[in-house]
Amino acid sequence: MGAFIIDGAALAKNIRQKIAEEIKLAKLQPGLAVVLVGEDPASQVYVRNKGAAATEVGMQSWTHRLAQTVTQAEVLALIGKLNQDKAVHGILVQLPLPKTIDAQAVIAAIDPAKDVDGLHPVNVGLLNLGLPSLQPCTPQGCLILLHEVLGNLAGRKALVIGRSGIVGEPVAQLLLQSDCTVTIAHSRTRNLPDECRAADIVVAALGRPEGVKGDWIKPGAVVIDVGINRINDPQRPGKTRLVGDVEFSRASHLASAITPVPGGVGPMTIACLLKNTLQAAKTQMT
Ligand code: NAD
Repeated sequence: MGAFIIDGAALAKNIRQKIAEEIKLAKLQPGLAVVLVGEDPASQVYVRNKGAAATEVGMQSWTHRLAQTVTQAEVLALIGKLNQDKAVHGILVQLPLPKTIDAQAVIAAIDPAKDVDGLHPVNVGLLNLGLPSLQPCTPQGCLILLHEVLGNLAGRKALVIGRSGIVGEPVAQLLLQSDCTVTIAHSRTRNLPDECRAADIVVAALGRPEGVKGDWIKPGAVVIDVGINRINDPQRPGKTRLVGDVEFSRASHLASAITPVPGGVGPMTIACLLKNTLQAAKTQMT
């Protein structure tokens, strides 16, 4: 039997609707400022989608587009201005930044109360201490999807593949806080197929197109595929298509539930960004 396909797009739509209702009822006007440096085509799409989603739920949204050649001082000056701006409750700097800019220094310059990406060292520290914080959007989205499918996660063996500060590490932290037994795999892990075969939950965030093979999945496991990779489509010469970090065609025969790419984690990331912006606005208004 095929796996249940987890509809992240539908769940994200629900979350966005609830946010829109709350904004309307409470007569709030949360503001989200997005900073984009350079011309990376994927980043441009993400930024456009984030701005449109914010406007759609009734938030104010501003996109600050800076040239690839901008200096570190200019980026920091913009962050300083946004920190002071009372209409701006959330600041998101689209990553990756050009190599000439120190991304850590830019993130650290954001007021932690406005850090809706949850990447400021203060928010990372609070998350690791299990204290209330602005949580990174993609990891938060993964956990909402898992709770939706499985309910209580306590005692489940979870494997997180990838240890980046944006996805892998915070996902592992949130799984731990949901009482899972967590393993983090990375590029130096010795036997990834066996680690997968032992896991009730697999969260794949390794950034390798279909790098997790379908037959590594334990029968009945739940698979959350964070990956977004654009590859040449062998069926349509000259065209490309999106695939995840998991070999969906085979994994979906073994898993009990799996997220598709696109339409799984991606829309949840944006919904959680809006959730964080609303949370930040409410905190700043009280
Ligand atoms: P990253 O490159 O920063 O980190 C990748 C991690 O995977 C590293 O920790 C590395 O050690 C590990 N890794 C690499 N090859 C491996 C292998 N063969 N076996 C085991 N581990 C391996 O990537 P990231 O920013 O964490 O993103 C991961 C994926 O998630 C990418 O495909 C990215 O496009 C996607 N992503 C999606 C969303 C979303 O909204 N859906 C958001 C962020 C990232």
